[in-house]
Amino acid sequence: MSGLGKIYGNGTVALQDVNLSINEGEFISFVGPSGCGKSTIFKLIAGLEERSSGNLEILGMTPKEARKQSEIAFVFQDHTLLPWLSVLDNVLLPLELRGMPKARRVEEAERALALVGLLEHRKSLPRHLSGGMKMRVSIARALAARPKLLLMDEPFGALDEITRQTLQDELLNIWQQDPSMTVLFVTHNTFEAVYLSTGIVVMTPRPGKVSAVVDVTAPFP
Ligand code: ADP
Ligand code: ADP
Repeated sequence: MSGLGKIYGNGTVALQDVNLSINEGEFISFVGPSGCGKSTIFKLIAGLEERSSGNLEILGMTPKEARKQSEIAFVFQDHTLLPWLSVLDNVLLPLELRGMPKARRVEEAERALALVGLLEHRKSLPRHLSGGMKMRVSIARALAARPKLLLMDEPFGALDEITRQTLQDELLNIWQQDPSMTVLFVTHNTFEAVYLSTGIVVMTPRPGKVSAVVDVTAPFP
């Protein structure tokens, strides 16, 4: 990102002159108070909003190109699983939409479910799962297409502390298994940011400028 700015239609300056460079394979957390522009940065990266100024490049592509090539996946706090589909079918859906052949689809979906320890629950419906398990399904769904860039916006915000900690460790394991996967993570929990990240982007409340990038050289073992 260089000189990246976003002004919404109503005149709100959400981001101003953001300069950031993130290397492949990093795990970067974005922290800062509500309204500082964390979600806006993610929307620009995901190609869901247009930038107003500056430049943004992802893996040598524009965000839209990167999205088309399924290089980007998202996980949000309110896991949007389809309630009438089984766990497996929920994970299969995005692969199906991308036109992946059936056999390969099932293989990739089951691999992703195994990563989050939910393979044996593949036939369950979402309503029979706990909050933590639903979040695991969302993570599996995001990982199934083997994205190069995983965007997570407060994924564990709604979970109890024990579940949160377990999922933090699972996420670290998954990330460590794929050295080329970059994770960008929004959290209000500074501990979580320090625990998970190779670097932390600290954003100021107004007017949404990135004030510092802190390198976390030694996360907890
Ligand atoms: P955060 O994720 O850090 O809470 P956001 O990126 O959601 O921050 O919001 C940054 C600023 O942009 C806030 O002032 C917010 O009110 C404003 N904003 C976000 N989305 C829109 C939108 N669609 N239209 C107008 N203003 C918006
Ligand atoms: P408090 O002091 O309020 O109990 P902590 O700072 O101990 O809170 O914990 C904050 C968060 O960090 C919680 O999600 C907790 O589960 C997690 N946590 C605490 N210690 C560790 C640790 N050693 N490794 C991983 N997560 C931890």
